[in-house]
Amino acid sequence: MTARPHPEAGLRALVGDGSMVPCVDGHDRPYLNLDAAASTSALPVVVRAVEDFLPCYASVHRGAGHKSQQSTRAYEAARAAALGFAGRSPGGGDVAIICRNTTEAINHLAYRLRLAADDVVVTTVVEHHANLLPWGRLCRRRFVECGSDGTFGVEEVAAAVDAGPRPRLLAVTGASNVTGWQPPIDDIVRAAHERDVPVLVDAAQLAAHRPLPADADFVAWSGHKMYAPFGAGVLVGPTAAFADGDPFLAGGGAVDLVDLDEVAWTDPPDREEAGSPNVIGAVALHAAIDELGRIGWDAIIDHDTRLQRRLRAGLVAIPGVNVLGPDTGGGATLPLVTFAVTGVPHALVAARLSAEHGIGVRHGCFCAHPYLVRLLGLGPDEIARHWDAVRHGDHRDMPGAIRASAGLSTSIDDIDRLVSAVADIASGRPTPVAYHQDPRTGDFHPEDGSTAPAGGGRAVGASCARG
Ligand code: PLP
Repeated sequence: MTARPHPEAGLRALVGDGSMVPCVDGHDRPYLNLDAAASTSALPVVVRAVEDFLPCYASVHRGAGHKSQQSTRAYEAARAAALGFAGRSPGGGDVAIICRNTTEAINHLAYRLRLAADDVVVTTVVEHHANLLPWGRLCRRRFVECGSDGTFGVEEVAAAVDAGPRPRLLAVTGASNVTGWQPPIDDIVRAAHERDVPVLVDAAQLAAHRPLPADADFVAWSGHKMYAPFGAGVLVGPTAAFADGDPFLAGGGAVDLVDLDEVAWTDPPDREEAGSPNVIGAVALHAAIDELGRIGWDAIIDHDTRLQRRLRAGLVAIPGVNVLGPDTGGGATLPLVTFAVTGVPHALVAARLSAEHGIGVRHGCFCAHPYLVRLLGLGPDEIARHWDAVRHGDHRDMPGAIRASAGLSTSIDDIDRLVSAVADIASGRPTPVAYHQDPRTGDFHPEDGSTAPAGGGRAVGASCARG
């Protein structure tokens, strides 16, 4: 019998947990990563799987040698695991295309649907930019609006689908990266199918936390958000959707025969994966899928729910802290909370959490600008002012908030550490050191540079808030 973990502990340790980082008081603290919604650290079993595989590493689909055969086998085993993870059975008419990440998967699908400029894709204002921009540049979009709490119901989705010409696709998130809210995805898929509209679910956030929606036609997700940060993501969909037409990427491995003025594309999935595939990423993804299976969704959901409740309740109780998004009681929300601190810029809160407390969070608009604008209740004049500032290269007063997001290794103690750090910042205590804001990025840094990573860090001008 396996021992049950301590109820307050994380479910699994991750590589790098507890690494010491410098803080402005001259002490090092164990780094607390509360930015799992952006990228998760690796599971140790994932790293071990990669290390075990490396001695067999060779070309995939391209070599007759023994190691090429082993590598090809490992790659195809990962593809089968990805298909199973998405709730599809082998030989069931679906294919898993291994790509880089969710963004690439959605761009891939957008290209492969061969959309005409006057085709319509219905999507929602809650989406990450990865599920907005690929559609916007190829066709027309009809949007599902959200209420002031950042949610919508299946009726609003059905109304948007019905509101004009039949859409080619409904593209909707499985869970928001800003509020953690999960739309009622099974009902939404059913409503779309009743109207003969296929559905893409952006499962970037869902994948590490909940089973993927088996009835959605297309599903996209990223390994780096589910403890396999080795560069692989997945697009799952009906094989028939990829059977005709030009692939997204043209090149070696995607063809049966080529002449200088002719090409015979091969069948999917190879047709969709031109170029040498990322077998290391695929092996890592496979190991993560297996490990999530060993832990089990019940344990993961239970862990997530306890963290979510503690995090939300802790932050809501702090005077001057405003939590964005719906209160679903924990179960219907991923373990993440986005909040603002009255009178303290979001970029400064994030900088202080890092420099004074050793806590890593994300701030800004989280690559979901339309959603943030709604959650913050910004009016047209404020929005126009932000556009003007950005056009002039001034990012000092960008709208935004702070997001704390948890994963497998997060414990209740970690949540409490974050809550007391936020309470400290919200209390109005003067900063222990002076902070400088970079107008090009909007980010704050301790003026004395005491906590900057070796080699210059963010001074190169990449904004934490950019999205
Ligand atoms: N969709 C959602 C909901 C996300 O949270 C993210 C990343 O944060 C993406 C898409 C894009 O994922 P990736 O950066 O792995 O392409």
